[in-house]
Amino acid sequence: MTYRLTPQRLAILEFLEGNRDHPSADDIYREVKTGFPTMSRATVYNTLDLLCRRGEIAELTVDPQRRRYDPDTSAHHHLICRSCGLIVDIFRDFQLSLNDGESESFLVESTHVQFTGLCPPCRNREEMKIGQD
Ligand code: ZN
Ligand code: MN
Repeated sequence: MTYRLTPQRLAILEFLEGNRDHPSADDIYREVKTGFPTMSRATVYNTLDLLCRRGEIAELTVDPQRRRYDPDTSAHHHLICRSCGLIVDIFRDFQLSLNDGESESFLVESTHVQFTGLCPPCRNREEMKIGQD
């Protein structure tokens, strides 16, 4: 498949550039549609798949119902709010390693740590709910 930087592709890449929100495909579709009203959802989804395959963006499999995209393909980890879906980058080396028995002779190429919990606003909401009981 030849790769051309169509205006649509460029618009998607521009929206993702430096974006720290880990937007979903639908978030990206809604945003890019403002500049390209005729762009279909399928075009956006296909473009995101293509960009992932090319390693230009990363797909996060945090929520199987709602794929999220990260323009930062460098090794990093994530804090995830289980209530609102907020995803925050964590840049730190956790020095995770497996011993020979555990790795089953796999060549481990990368690790991704997900910290799941509640962000401050969601945590406050939960605590207020508990307070009302
Ligand atoms: Zn939250
Ligand atoms: Mn990230």
